[in-house]
Amino acid sequence: MATAYTWHPGTGVDRPRWVRSVPLLPDEIISSWLVRAALAQGCDPMVLTGEIWPKWRLWTRDADRFLDDAPLNKLVAPAGISLSCFRAATLKNVAERFSKGPLPEKAVWPWILALGARNTKRRSGLQYCPACLRDDGIPYYRLQWRFSWHVGCEHHHCLLLDRCPHCGAPFEPHRLHAEDGHVAVCATCSGNLRGVGAITPCSDDAMAFQNAGDEAIRHGRSQFMAQLTETDAWFVGASFLSALLRRANRSDAEALHSFLESMGIAAPALPLNPGTGVELLGTAERHLLLDALWKLMRTDLAEVSMHLQKSGITRQGFVSKGERMPDLFAEVFAQLPDNARGPRKLAVREPGQPRPRHEVMRMWRRLQRRLEMLQR
Ligand SMILES: [Zn+2]
Ligand SMILES: [Zn+2]
Repeated sequence: MATAYTWHPGTGVDRPRWVRSVPLLPDEIISSWLVRAALAQGCDPMVLTGEIWPKWRLWTRDADRFLDDAPLNKLVAPAGISLSCFRAATLKNVAERFSKGPLPEKAVWPWILALGARNTKRRSGLQYCPACLRDDGIPYYRLQWRFSWHVGCEHHHCLLLDRCPHCGAPFEPHRLHAEDGHVAVCATCSGNLRGVGAITPCSDDAMAFQNAGDEAIRHGRSQFMAQLTETDAWFVGASFLSALLRRANRSDAEALHSFLESMGIAAPALPLNPGTGVELLGTAERHLLLDALWKLMRTDLAEVSMHLQKSGITRQGFVSKGERMPDLFAEVFAQLPDNARGPRKLAVREPGQPRPRHEVMRMWRRLQRRLEMLQR
């Protein structure tokens, strides 16, 4: 297992300038390597990066992006590691495979966990598997622990952690000091991160979503509602459906709710902050979301379309205002009733004909809400 890798094999060093050589480990993310390189030379990570890039405060930004090769080039000679090996350890290398346009310098990258960096302090954004760190000869952080479609460890099938199990702080390995010795230490409370913390099993559906996302990136396409779909369309489709799932608990989304119910999917109970993408959610929240998302994505598109039509959802309920609908759903969308404002059509019902189920459910929920308000 020590040599197993998914994203890059890592590399040894070739005639480094530094006295203590630091190989790049399999799947290691570049910030982890930078911190280990500093600790190995006996200095703090911020001191080392200040030496390499005197005018560039690396840790005030996302140190794993490396949009340009120029700063990476400065590492090649001292480390004895090639530019292409360093490039493979950056987030840019992965994000550009599913992002159509150029990646922004500062804004959040789609499907990459946002650090929420403020000066050198982080809000979150890095996850880890306590069992992996325990099993590592040399503990290190993996590239995939920054992916927002990852919530579990593929080796240990447990949920990843995004907070220190001792003090609840986010992981900030760049704030470690030379005397800490290795990266499996919390920079806030100095607690040990190896093999500690609650081992919660990761749901099979969330893990299946994660694997399908990996496949989309590694092989250029993956299954989406039983259709082989190109990488960028796969992620755009997943974003669209995750927004749909997050809307399902809104009080005005009865039809959407009954659509999910009819498919046997429980709408994930998530705090609803419109405008916050999956990149800003914590691991536990994403676990719920991705579990429900895969139940949708593994179902045949024709079947999903049938359930949508039965639920009575309108085009306006399916695609919310300002949202771009993926081409994948064009046909499904065309078959939904249009509720656009304009000359309002009155539903004509023969006397004695029963109301459709979704209408009854809507009336029932409205009544329940009124009763709840009265009881307050
Ligand atoms: Zn693990
Ligand atoms: Zn801690």
